[in-house]
Amino acid sequence: MRNNSNIRNIVILTGAGISAESGLKTFRAEDGLWENHPVEQVATPEGFARDPDLVQRFYDERRAQVRAAKPNAAHQALGRLDREFSGDLLIVTQNIDDLHERGGASRVLHMHGESLSAWCQACDARHRWDGTLRDGPACPSCGEAAMRPDIVWFGEMPYQMDRIFDALADADLFVSIGTSGAVYPAAGFVQQASANGARTLELNLEESMGSSNFDETRLGAASELVPEWVDEVLKA
Ligand code: NAD
Repeated sequence: MRNNSNIRNIVILTGAGISAESGLKTFRAEDGLWENHPVEQVATPEGFARDPDLVQRFYDERRAQVRAAKPNAAHQALGRLDREFSGDLLIVTQNIDDLHERGGASRVLHMHGESLSAWCQACDARHRWDGTLRDGPACPSCGEAAMRPDIVWFGEMPYQMDRIFDALADADLFVSIGTSGAVYPAAGFVQQASANGARTLELNLEESMGSSNFDETRLGAASELVPEWVDEVLKA
């Protein structure tokens, strides 16, 4: 790996693997299921149109789980990096939990939305949401009962892609943590960063579908690998 003292601009991509040790299950690990549901059922606009009650209940459960979960050593290490690294940093997360923020990071972009946010289909307002949506609560802005989870489903456009590609264009280090490399467009960020001249590092429990695209892959649990890597960067 290139000497970390040259690094002035880091983009980090995180996936479900960084939250696994906080007790939040990953997505399509072995069987294409998310918490025992096929992803087509709970993570597509068609699935929501077919059975809104089931989908609202699914995300009500995810929201309750997220609220009960605690950040682990990997989230905390990235929080420390965010506070102490003086260069540019952007943590792009595919995760819908808020464990990066509760681990102390603030330079975080949720490209797939957030489980603690609700989106009104009538007036387009978004609201912080801690409770349930299955009971059809009124939107605090317009009063309509038209709130859906503020989650980017398959077939929908991830949030803030322009900002992400701008950051990838400027990055001199791209680090991917706990993501399977199966979900696009995030899976393509490594090639984008490489093409722009960044070094690329993958931290994952096992080789991912995209491992061969990285300059370096380190295998192990995020709670061990991430604090070690953050120490390296901050000591440089
Ligand atoms: P994924 O489930 O497809 O892949 C997870 C990856 O993490 C795998 O490669 C696995 O080997 C690795 N992993 C598992 N445990 C790990 C650990 N302890 N340390 C390091 N790596 C570990 O996840 P993805 O690539 O993020 O794509 C899944 C999609 O699912 C995302 O779009 C996300 O929105 C959604 N999702 C989010 C959460 C969450 O917010 N916590 C949880 C499940 C799914």
